[in-house]
Amino acid sequence: MPQTNIAQRKYNEIRKRAFENFINIRLFHFFIQNPAIPEPNIDELIKLSIQKEMYDLYGRCHQMPSSLVVPHYPHIKIGELDKLYKNWYDKNTQHTSALEKVFQEQHFFSKEEFIKFYGADEIDRSCTYCKVLESEIEELAEHGWIRTKRHLTRGRTMELDRKDPFLPYTKDNVALCCYWCNNAKTDEFSINEFAGIGNAMTRIWIDRLRKIDKEKKMI
Ligand SMILES: [Zn+2]
Repeated sequence: MPQTNIAQRKYNEIRKRAFENFINIRLFHFFIQNPAIPEPNIDELIKLSIQKEMYDLYGRCHQMPSSLVVPHYPHIKIGELDKLYKNWYDKNTQHTSALEKVFQEQHFFSKEEFIKFYGADEIDRSCTYCKVLESEIEELAEHGWIRTKRHLTRGRTMELDRKDPFLPYTKDNVALCCYWCNNAKTDEFSINEFAGIGNAMTRIWIDRLRKIDKEKKMI
């Protein structure tokens, strides 16, 4: 059996983030429509069907000052939502298992699906955007061509990018992505906008790898 420790670690990380997001978007949806009901029950949250527009609105509110009202929902300020979330979490942190079950069964990768997607430990993964391989990153690092100090903790294996950063971590919305592209893309650029940046990064990696080849020939 191939080892899959890296994929399993990544799965646990992304699953935690995705589940938080799954709850938060539902609380957001509920509270902007029913701010007078401070405690939606879990079944009500499960039943909500979240559309793309709601994800976009949620993402937009995150970038706005808390004193402003939610766009299209003038009866509630962004700062009031924060209080409602906190209140809900204080009372419900211990009672989220029903939500978690639905999340896992209907909205997220199973562990097996994710491991298949990410690959076993020995797979040489590549970045969706700049195409660099993990083996090339290793080669660059060995020859002093990786400069970030963060490389001790990040960069050696492919990370997970949400293609549309406002939509959830689902099978269709996740891409393997190197640390550098992930850092550059942030939640600012769409896939199409980022294509040109990915291509420019490819040229830089190729150039650095060529320099290493030249150095090797001179020895
Ligand atoms: Zn990349």
